[in-house]
Amino acid sequence: MADQSESSRESAEGVDYARELKKALEDDQFFLVYQPEIDLHSNAFVGVEALIRWRHPKRGVLSPDAFVPELESSGLILAVGRWALATACAQGAEWHDKGFRFTVSVNISALQFAWSGFVKEVEEVITTSRFPAGLLVLEFAQDTLSGDVTDRLTGLTQLGVRLAIDDFEPGQSLLSDLENLPITVLKLDRHFVATLSDSPEGTELVHSLVDLAKKSQLQIVASGIEDAEQRQRLQLEDVGVGQGFLFSKPHEAADIDRYLEDFSIFSGKPL
Ligand code: C2E
Ligand code: MG
Repeated sequence: MADQSESSRESAEGVDYARELKKALEDDQFFLVYQPEIDLHSNAFVGVEALIRWRHPKRGVLSPDAFVPELESSGLILAVGRWALATACAQGAEWHDKGFRFTVSVNISALQFAWSGFVKEVEEVITTSRFPAGLLVLEFAQDTLSGDVTDRLTGLTQLGVRLAIDDFEPGQSLLSDLENLPITVLKLDRHFVATLSDSPEGTELVHSLVDLAKKSQLQIVASGIEDAEQRQRLQLEDVGVGQGFLFSKPHEAADIDRYLEDFSIFSGKPL
């Protein structure tokens, strides 16, 4: 009995939270921050990942862990995910119009990808925003891509967008599974990157992954690089691109503009 009232209280709270999230979308309380991705060899600024935040009227700015699971369980992720994709592409088009040439990556949840209208939606967003499809990267968790997904992935690649596997952990994931999918980017999990310095096995895994990447034209992006030693280790293994607090935390678009100005002066690289 106690269990039942506990679960009905929890579901009532879930309904309230879902209602609050719906209102948050209507009231424009969500916003995106962008985290730079840097070429580890040339130092060039090669992209940003868009990450959602909620400016909660009472609780301040909330990170996705506090509300994305509820967006997913309530199905609201379809509407919020569409908003995030459209907002990131509109921002990408603005940067592109200013002359910057870098990718914008957007996280896509399993429910969005499973929705039958998803490919059409991506096509519409690209058309409306005029952001070049070749600069848009869609990031999927690996378990999103299990089962019969080849047709849908092919539909996306036919639009010209790039597809990434997010939070990839070498050793726990089968590389042979990847070879059959039209994936062009692999994002190394940040927890894996964090343990790399104490793990000869980890370094060995990165080595074989980089070998495979070179053969199959796959780009590897290491997430969560926090210090120079991690960066150096990844660079020695020939990992192409890095993202993490060492380079920059995620920032709102206007701050990225300032970062880009400083960055181009600092590195002297055309962007
Ligand atoms: P993710 O896609 O793996 O994003 C990377 C996360 O690592 C971000 O957390 C980022 O702030 C954090 N991070 C980046 N560099 C470092 C570092 O050097 N050290 C540490 N400790 N952390 C670092 P965030 O923004 O809290 O996002 C968490 C997750 O929420 C994302 O993980 C992604 O799975 C999900 N998410 C974010 N935005 C969206 C969205 O628009 N749609 C969907 N479906 N999911 C989203
Ligand atoms: Mg991601």
